[in-house]
Amino acid sequence: MNPLIHTPAVELGRMIATGETCSEEVVQAHLDRIGAVDSDINAFLYVDTERALAQARAVDARVAAGERLGPLAGVPIGVKDAFTYMGAPTTCGSAMLRDWRPPYTSTVVQHLLDAGLVILGKTNMDEFAMGSSTENSAFGPTHNPWDLTRIPGGSGGGSSAALAAFEAPLAIGSDTGGSIRQPASVTGTVGVKPTYGGCSRYGLVATASSLDQAGPCARSVMDAALLHQVMAGYDPKDSTSIDQPVPGVVEAAGRRDVKGMRIGVVTDLGGEGYAPGVTQRFNETVELLAGADAEIVEVSCPYFRYALPAYYLIMPSEVSSNLARFDAMRYGLRVGDDGSHSAEQVMKLSRGANFGPEVIRRVILGTYALSSGYYDAYYGSAQKVRTLIIRDFSRAFEQADVLVSPATPTTAFKLGERVDDPMAMYQADLATIPTNLAGNTAASFPVGLAPEDGLPVGFQVMAPPMREDRVYQVGSAVEALWEDTWGAPLWTQLVTREDAR
Ligand code: GLN
Repeated sequence: MNPLIHTPAVELGRMIATGETCSEEVVQAHLDRIGAVDSDINAFLYVDTERALAQARAVDARVAAGERLGPLAGVPIGVKDAFTYMGAPTTCGSAMLRDWRPPYTSTVVQHLLDAGLVILGKTNMDEFAMGSSTENSAFGPTHNPWDLTRIPGGSGGGSSAALAAFEAPLAIGSDTGGSIRQPASVTGTVGVKPTYGGCSRYGLVATASSLDQAGPCARSVMDAALLHQVMAGYDPKDSTSIDQPVPGVVEAAGRRDVKGMRIGVVTDLGGEGYAPGVTQRFNETVELLAGADAEIVEVSCPYFRYALPAYYLIMPSEVSSNLARFDAMRYGLRVGDDGSHSAEQVMKLSRGANFGPEVIRRVILGTYALSSGYYDAYYGSAQKVRTLIIRDFSRAFEQADVLVSPATPTTAFKLGERVDDPMAMYQADLATIPTNLAGNTAASFPVGLAPEDGLPVGFQVMAPPMREDRVYQVGSAVEALWEDTWGAPLWTQLVTREDAR
């Protein structure tokens, strides 16, 4: 394996800036890797080879001219196919947007380009970000690099699998109910959901607008923080963007210390329904944190148990409204436009032919929940539960600086195992959804492999809104404590395994 593809992004940035290597070489190494393994992984829906190499050469020229660039200049990155990037297709994993080329670039992608990052291509995802396994993609599922017969999580499975397969050192995702943290958890990578409004949603195709949030994916905590710093910040083009300075994430990611921090174990996110190996690694991590002089407290958030049902009313409601634009008139591939059908029939045919079963299920569910006569009973009640969950968080954050739980109840399940069982699929987001409903920040960090199946386990850290610094601080300590135990980061096991073959 070319060492450049498993070098941390922070190190690649340094090597490019000092001339130890150049961006073109780094980018070419990753393009070669994609060429070698992506037929097995299917992490990328589109690889932007020529443009990536041109961007890399442009960075190299600026470095050669003596320009001082940002820490990630010249480092390649994968972009979830939900973000617009002019010149490349944006499909959202849907046949509806097959070949759609957006006429503008999302703010977050623009931030990446401005910081000199090199965009490798667009990563696979569940259709319109609905799913927990990337099996709802119209372009085939992504496979988990730890075990190709397993799911990489969803909806951003492509981004996380690309990291674990060493196809990219960095990626971005979007998290509506867990789609950054949940894939991170089951692929042994880092995924951060920023505070709602922390990263611009402009140009991120809307799934559920009150929940959607863009965020960084990486193999290490420092890499995620450096990327977070680039992505985040106020954007006047997004009316829900927060006009405040970005929390000090990079500084926090360097702390690796939790002395005196109050860490709250959420008793309602654990126990029944959580796999033994997940619980074991979670408990061991809490013990490590206690050993590092954090103060461990137990907190109860009794309304979290209603988070899943509330989410699966609010989320589809917003979906039913947002996806109305895919009517083959404003957006979307047109079907049946042969002169024999009315405009309304063409809309119906197009939506029926182009949307997959999960999207259709949610549009129907959401339309029903919002219909007059049912609105108060369903959508209204769910919004009340949302308020109760926000109160649970507020009370818990009086007792603890951060809250922790397993990021997902189980490790990566088998491909095909849950596709026909939506209720089982939804369970994968049990621990991540409360944060989306409340709008605060949370992340998943790798804490080893479950003894029963040898698959990665994720540790979730949640913090109050705009306290991403606490998430990164605890994450950096978790990373350091486990690396002391293992002698190396978890992902190095994948390198060793491959080199041994
Ligand atoms: N799995 C969740 C869902 O299907 C979360 C999706 C997401 O965060 N985009 O709604």
